[in-house]
This record gives sequence, C-alpha cells and structure tokens, in this order.
Amino acid sequence: MSVREILQIGHPVLAARAIEVEVSGINSPRVQAWIDDMIDTMRDANGAGIAANQIGIPYRLFVIEVENNLRYPYKPAIPLTVAINPRITYLSEETFASNEGCLSVPQMRGSVDRYVEIAVSYYDRKGIHQSFDVRGYSACTWQHEYDHLEGILFPHRVTNPQSYCSWAVFKEYHQADFAEEVNKLVEKWGT
Ligand code: ZN
Repeated sequence: MSVREILQIGHPVLAARAIEVEVSGINSPRVQAWIDDMIDTMRDANGAGIAANQIGIPYRLFVIEVENNLRYPYKPAIPLTVAINPRITYLSEETFASNEGCLSVPQMRGSVDRYVEIAVSYYDRKGIHQSFDVRGYSACTWQHEYDHLEGILFPHRVTNPQSYCSWAVFKEYHQADFAEEVNKLVEKWGT
C-alpha cells in the first residue's frame, strides 16, 4: 500500500479510454494492490474520489469516499466505494450545474452539467456485481469519476467558460452561493 503520484491533465494515460478489468482477476494481489494504492492516494490528497488512470493504471476502476471532506465541505457523505468496470445510465433529463475540481487539475474549478438521477452498476473489490440508483449531488461525483475512464476531465465539459476559476477565487467569491445550491439539491433527494 502506498501513496502514488497523481498524473496531471494532458498526460496520455489520463487522456486515453481505460481498459476493462478482467473480472476473474479482481481478487488477484495485483488488482487488490491497485485498489489499496488508489484509496491511500485519494485519502492523502483529501480527494472525494480517484480513478485508476489518475495514478497511471490504465484500467476501468475508481474509488469514491466522502466524509467531512476538506476540499468539498458541502458534499454529502458517500461510504468508501470501489467500482470496477462501472456502467452508468441516466434515469431522467434533470441536470445540475456542478462546480467541480479534480486532483489532476491542480488549483482549478469549473461548472459542469451533470445528471442528478442515475443508475450505476459495477463489480466491487470482492468481484461481486452491484447495482443501485444514485440521486442528488452524489450522482455528480459518480459521473466525474466515470468520465476519467473515458479520458474526459472536467475542463473538457465546462459549460460556462466564465465559471472556470482558481480554487482560491472560488472559495472567496463563489463557494457560499454554490454550497446553497448543493444544499437545495441534497434536501430534494436526500443525498
Ligand atoms: Zn477528477
């Protein structure tokens, strides 16, 4: 288990579509070590999630965990989730203007339209297939991580270029208003 270097936007491994994980190999020491490194690296960087290709592993898996997050204090809690070969389908047309940051895009923030009602399915770290619906703000986190596996980072999806700003500017001028929008979404959906 170790904290790994996080690749930054423009790196070819981040820009490429990630490869499916062989399901029969999920329990192998190799894949289990990837997962441990992803969790360690995410927690060390106070991230809300991290995809394997962010630490140079070009396969389709990511981890998510939110609990009193320092980078995103308004985010509702999400228990530690390891999603291997995930799939997402959209359950409605409703979207939310999600202001996002990324460990691979240091110091920057931007607003991205995300669906707020999705169904997810994936294999967990024991190789067990899971599927459930995710609604509200947590759905945005799932879509952000899933995008990484397609080689897409949030700046590629920024809808209003004027929203692209430094982390410090966001915190000083925009975070309070944005946190109110997130709270309304969380009140509506519970997550
Ligand atoms: Zn990211």
